[in-house]
Amino acid sequence: MSQFKDLGLNPRILQALEEMGFEKPTPIQEKTIPFLIGSEKDVIALAQTGTGKTAAFSLPIIQKIDESDTNTQCLVLCPTRELAIQIEKDINNFTKYSPGIKSLAVFGGEMIDKQIRSMRDKPQIVVGTPGRVNDLIRRRVLKVESIKWLILDEADEMLNMGFKEEIDETIINMPEQKQVLLFSATMNRSVRRIADNYMKKPHDIAVENQEQGSKNIEHFYYMVHEKDRYQALRRIADMNPDIHGIIFCRTKRETQQVADKLMQDNYSAEAIHGDISQEQRTLVMNRFRDKKTQLLVATDVAARGIDVNGLTHIINYNLPESVETYVHRSGRTGRAHNTGISLVIVNMREQYRIKALERQIGQTFEKGMIPTGEQICERQLFNLIDNVCQIEINEKQINKYLELINKKFENMEREELIKKFVSVEFNRFLEHYQNASDLNTSSPQEREQPRKSSMLFSRFSINVGRNAGINVKDLLQFLNSQPELRSVEIGNITISDSSTVFEIDDRYKNQIMEIFKNIQMNGLNIEIICEASGIESSRDFYRKESRPPRRGGFSPRRNGGGGGGGRPPRRR
Ligand code: AMP
Repeated sequence: MSQFKDLGLNPRILQALEEMGFEKPTPIQEKTIPFLIGSEKDVIALAQTGTGKTAAFSLPIIQKIDESDTNTQCLVLCPTRELAIQIEKDINNFTKYSPGIKSLAVFGGEMIDKQIRSMRDKPQIVVGTPGRVNDLIRRRVLKVESIKWLILDEADEMLNMGFKEEIDETIINMPEQKQVLLFSATMNRSVRRIADNYMKKPHDIAVENQEQGSKNIEHFYYMVHEKDRYQALRRIADMNPDIHGIIFCRTKRETQQVADKLMQDNYSAEAIHGDISQEQRTLVMNRFRDKKTQLLVATDVAARGIDVNGLTHIINYNLPESVETYVHRSGRTGRAHNTGISLVIVNMREQYRIKALERQIGQTFEKGMIPTGEQICERQLFNLIDNVCQIEINEKQINKYLELINKKFENMEREELIKKFVSVEFNRFLEHYQNASDLNTSSPQEREQPRKSSMLFSRFSINVGRNAGINVKDLLQFLNSQPELRSVEIGNITISDSSTVFEIDDRYKNQIMEIFKNIQMNGLNIEIICEASGIESSRDFYRKESRPPRRGGFSPRRNGGGGGGGRPPRRR
């Protein structure tokens, strides 16, 4: 993979990128940046949000813009206010060391007078939603005569939202001589029509696979009875205590109902949909972005333009109507160089649609098993214990109470004390799941075959997780590369911020303990705990990888084993 400096960008841009923590270009950037620096041809790029497309189109334009010319030279059209703000913010960061370049975001829902005043600052780059941009053009505040670059970002979304006429009107007013760049996650007839009408012999840029963003995404489906959909959602959330994700529903009503139920059941969840005011929406989004809310329940329309990095899960509470919508939904995770999980809850009648989706997006869906009550209780118990081990003690505050606390506990044995503390949190799960039934349903073909998972597993927990850069693929490749584990079955893998839990064929318990005792990750000794053995897996097995083994971020211990390195600080 190349570096940004190999793409022909100037030192001022490189300096800004370095400060933003952009180390290496994403695939779409690798292809688009050198092309646009060297060519004035129009470009169609298939890319969804999260692939790094903003930098892909804006960096070469920033490099080529004439800083001495204060007319508007570049117009970016995008579907939502949030996206316009985000793109402009990125451009502002990219131009930190290019003081001659100014940019402005314009969008509906904010007083036009304020934006008219800001236009007096003479931004060379204007980013906006089609309606507001047209309004400013009609008022002659935004002059398009000097436009050299027009970018249509998320073109499919703009057309889905009914902006076709506004886009037509904007383009008709522009000079013939300009470079048009069209970015779209999907290519349908109406996007193609825009390209045919307004672009000249466009150069196509695709990154390996049309669904480039989803290469970092694992797709799962869970099959349940219709009546169990909500309970299945709860179990998925309970099995992933560090979840930070979006739950997509089909209607505003369903969105609100699911969010209300989750809140009543003590989950950290909020809703966004069309009936929520802009002000409220901003508050909800800020809480979600700051991880104060773990689950955002949303309609597709309300979630447009949501730009939150590091989401762990996208949950399709229902299958969306179209493949395009699924691609957009799942593209909210696995952004930039991260990995993510997109999962769908289906009933038996919908299962055939999974096969169709697999064909259309060119990715396979793995069948996930809704965890049993017992599995969830174990997961929560060990998560609680992990949290206790990692919590930082505020010695100053606690010391003054210690004497009294010790007195209250003086007649209690250590074991009883531990049990009582753990029960404060854990009883909630025990009570809820004490008579929980199996929610999984199976297709007639599956019922004829005995389930593979009658075999038994051990479950392990290690003290490194997402924060240390672990992902499912690297862990699988690492396990598969171990000679002692050749052909071993691997069960469920759950990666949270600072720990990873995985299941392995019970018979390999000792080998696993040995292997992990002797390795490090990013210089940190790995501590492994066997949480349970002789258990059933909560999912079907990971497919054996045929790729050449790679060690991921794992390396042999430099200090020859033993000795516990500290745990990484927990991000909370
Ligand atoms: P975008 O697809 O442009 O919305 O980018 C998605 C996210 O990835 C944004 O938060 C960017 O700041 C970030 N990003 C884009 N390119 C890179 C890169 N080369 N390295 C690291 N982060 C990036």
